[in-house]
Amino acid sequence: EATPVDHSRLQKRILAGFVLGLAGGLLAYTFAQDAGWVEWLVTYVTGPIGQIFLRLLFMLVIPLLFSALVVGIAEMGEVRSLGRVGLKTLGYTVIVSSIAVAISLLLVNLIRPGDGIDPAAAAELLEQGAEGASGIVEASAASEAGVNQIIAIVPNNIIAAMSANDILAVMFFALFFGIGLLLVQSRRTAVLKDAIEGVFEVAMKLIGFVIQLAPIAIFCFMFNLTAQFGWDLLGKLAAFVAVVLLALAVQMFGVFPLILKFVAKKSPVAFFKQTREASLMAFSTASSNATLPTALRVADTELNLPRRIARFVLTIGATANQNGTAMFEGVTVLFLAQFFGIELTLMDQAFVMLICILAGIGTAGVPGGSLPVIALILVGVGVDPAGIGLILGVDRFLDMCRTTLNVVGDLVAAQTISALSPELAEERVADTQSEPIGL
Ligand code: ASP
Repeated sequence: EATPVDHSRLQKRILAGFVLGLAGGLLAYTFAQDAGWVEWLVTYVTGPIGQIFLRLLFMLVIPLLFSALVVGIAEMGEVRSLGRVGLKTLGYTVIVSSIAVAISLLLVNLIRPGDGIDPAAAAELLEQGAEGASGIVEASAASEAGVNQIIAIVPNNIIAAMSANDILAVMFFALFFGIGLLLVQSRRTAVLKDAIEGVFEVAMKLIGFVIQLAPIAIFCFMFNLTAQFGWDLLGKLAAFVAVVLLALAVQMFGVFPLILKFVAKKSPVAFFKQTREASLMAFSTASSNATLPTALRVADTELNLPRRIARFVLTIGATANQNGTAMFEGVTVLFLAQFFGIELTLMDQAFVMLICILAGIGTAGVPGGSLPVIALILVGVGVDPAGIGLILGVDRFLDMCRTTLNVVGDLVAAQTISALSPELAEERVADTQSEPIGL
């Protein structure tokens, strides 16, 4: 595990990579646009390094996603007596994530932050990326249309789906498998669940290693991009950040208060005040998992929620209920599609929406947890995954913001599920034994 100190050092290096790559690329764009060496650098040095970074992420994403989803589902039903709460949590997560993703897709379509880039340059970049990531992009090129797209969610061969990086099919299998694992409660399935959890832990560890390379990769991505797009790029990036923030704000200050007021019957103002500590923690750590202990304490001492419900909803929510992440992933994928001039039909967008809802469930609650998932979604909709380099530089700040929404969203969920489960609510009064709240 990276210590907090390590982490802030990594963040500084990422920022340095971003700024240096940006500056270098802009200089090259301004003064040496047609110089052979710039092209040479992009083709043989900065391009390949960026590609290797992406491939490392890709390598890990299937084991990570599969294990995270299976464990998430299995945990949802684990506590027998909480079965109904589990169902409510699942329903809540799906409904509220759908609202979140719909808002974000609507905003990107209205504002279109990625439009207006030089199409020729974008096409060129796309070509390079496709070459570098050969095999990855091709796999998805065969994306089918219409009803076949829906049928294809159900894989007829899970190994083929995995090797094609068919994210939705893999997710479907993982969900199905997780439900199966839930229904067979034996000694052996307990071992299996443990093993899958082990896969998850190892994958997380390895992602941690790969993220250590991020500063260099970000330098390369920024250099490649700005050397080709110049100043245009900065404007686009700013528009992208603005749309993400706007989308998050609509959910936080529009949708959450409505849910609190009308479903949970709780004053939104009081709620936001009481949960401030958790929001701050989420904002500063950019990790739902790291904020979990704080969120549990807030639910207990500030919101006075029934303990079992709070513990259940918050623990699962830290991984599975990530509204901010789902929104961010939606905005990012559409933004990059616009940037590269790829028109997504309504059907494609519905597809993105579905993937983002599931991705909100499957994304790990760690800093940058979204990145591997976004890379895979991009491939799924036929956008060059190298585009992720575009947003890497601003990712940390957006991560802090979306994680805040993730955590507040979990607390809203806990509050709402408690209100909807009056039969368990009295428990709080009786529940006086000082069982430690935590992990
Ligand atoms: N950092 C986020 C979280 O912990 C996950 C993400 O990258 O979106 O909730």
